[in-house]
Amino acid sequence: SIVVTGATGHLGRHVVEQLLDKVPADRITAVVRDEAKAADLAARGVKLAVADYNAPETFGSVFAPGDRVLLISGNEFDKGRPAQHQVVIDAAKAAGVALLAYTSAPGSLSAALADDHRVTEQALLASGLPYTLLRNGWYHENYTENLAPVLEHDAVVAAAGQGRVSSASRADYAAAAVAVLTGEGHENKTYELGGDEAWSFAEYAAELSRQTGKEIAYNAVSPEVLTGILTGAGLPGPFAAILAGVDASIEKGELVVSGGDLSRLAGRPTTPLAEAITAALKG
Ligand code: NDP
Repeated sequence: SIVVTGATGHLGRHVVEQLLDKVPADRITAVVRDEAKAADLAARGVKLAVADYNAPETFGSVFAPGDRVLLISGNEFDKGRPAQHQVVIDAAKAAGVALLAYTSAPGSLSAALADDHRVTEQALLASGLPYTLLRNGWYHENYTENLAPVLEHDAVVAAAGQGRVSSASRADYAAAAVAVLTGEGHENKTYELGGDEAWSFAEYAAELSRQTGKEIAYNAVSPEVLTGILTGAGLPGPFAAILAGVDASIEKGELVVSGGDLSRLAGRPTTPLAEAITAALKG
């Protein structure tokens, strides 16, 4: 089987959807925490396995020898993601899967956000399993799904200076994952994945202005000011600091990924940011 964890998350849903275009539904297993959330997938013939990264015993019978597995990194920053991911690696190793692919972060990213990913990459290498590191760059959706405050204040606020980001859509990263899960020759490979074009926040604001007909400016602030704005909007302090740290990395160019691995794996150009903005504005 092809087994996908985090299958009811945003990225996981794209992966399962694109897998359904390529392989019979009964060859796909969606690993989910909440079966009800995946009822639509089950109805289409996708097999479900109910398991939680926090409960190793739930992974006891999820994997079978020869499976190709996609471990989608978790989102519970406060629960120790490396230990959670280790649970999946251990279960995959015990079962003897043929491939364990992991959604990581760009090798160039030094922000604290990348720490969990580095630890998991090392655990995966130490397991001796055939692996693929899908070092995903930034999602367009990190920005385009959070347009409400931008449109309210006519300002893009970021602590990224003139730094550039080569983001791509979740669907693009999903296409790369599907290529690895369904293709050959991806064992023990590391892919640095990012969009074909890098953009600056000034360019992002200009594109938003063009598409909305409003004058939207880029307001470059310091990481400290951004942390204050984010906590003011209700984000927990540590998480706000992590996001501000990402912007500092962007200013240093750490989220520019230019090797072309993503469009090569996907077999097509990546989705332009402008297209993601259009989709988001249509809402
Ligand atoms: P989502 O938050 O939509 O999905 C996270 C998935 O992880 C969900 O399916 C969730 O399950 C699952 N999950 C979380 N905790 C557990 C657990 N304890 N046991 C089992 N499953 C768990 O994120 P995306 O799909 O958008 O992105 C995928 C991952 O990529 C994120 O989790 C994060 O690690 C990383 N990321 C990358 C970004 C980027 O720009 N490259 C931006 C943001 C995140 P459930 O559906 O039940 O909630």
